[in-house]
Amino acid sequence: MNIQPTYSSLDYPGKMALVLFIPGCDLRCRYCHNPQLLKNEKFTPWELEEVLDAIDENVDFIDAIVISGGEPLLHVDVVKKFIKKAKKENLLVKLDTNGLHPDGVKKVIKSLDYVAMDVKAPLDEYYKISDVYPKNAKELIKESINVIRQNNVFLECRTTFVPTLLTKNDIINLVSDIDCDMYTLQQFRNRLTFDSSLSTVTEPNPEDLLDILRSLDTEIPEIHLKSNQFGNQTIKKLE
Ligand code: SF4
Repeated sequence: MNIQPTYSSLDYPGKMALVLFIPGCDLRCRYCHNPQLLKNEKFTPWELEEVLDAIDENVDFIDAIVISGGEPLLHVDVVKKFIKKAKKENLLVKLDTNGLHPDGVKKVIKSLDYVAMDVKAPLDEYYKISDVYPKNAKELIKESINVIRQNNVFLECRTTFVPTLLTKNDIINLVSDIDCDMYTLQQFRNRLTFDSSLSTVTEPNPEDLLDILRSLDTEIPEIHLKSNQFGNQTIKKLE
């Protein structure tokens, strides 16, 4: 099966979830940890049935499904099938997306409880992260954010910090350009990356990442840092 349902207590905060990794992506982030998921796949009807059966079999043990990838919105009809099943079973639904598909977001937003959107670089500087990206990435991401905000769905934006690709000022710039409920800065891990040359890049020190987050002048109410050393740390949370 191309979509391997996987249990997780980390992918939907505070919930036990079944994560569905949908293959295919329109970016080629140099640090991508799921290079095996980049190739676009076609799904057979019986494969989709197997995923729906997996949700059925696990419904007593999970609170939510997380639709991840790859970029799930390249297969919005498949995503809609999984959402329909989850809602029938009273499960929460979280979508992980790269934000480049506002039309796909519009088609599913009414059924979502949580969106985690990767904001990979300053919105007009995606060339720093991927050789392949739409030239109107900034407009697409802004539109996706607007749709999510207008529908009052919880929005987490997150960035993976690779020291050789991004700077402190890049994070300050991109955060000033987004509107969300939560922002998470993720420590780059140098194991298994799409661009194998990144395996020699030193993983950033959590103290340096903390320094970046403390320098942000933002009204985003909740800020997190994710690192191998300290897990998911809340750096700021307005009540
Ligand atoms: S990290 Fe980038 S290339 Fe990899 S799945 Fe996510 S958006 Fe696609």
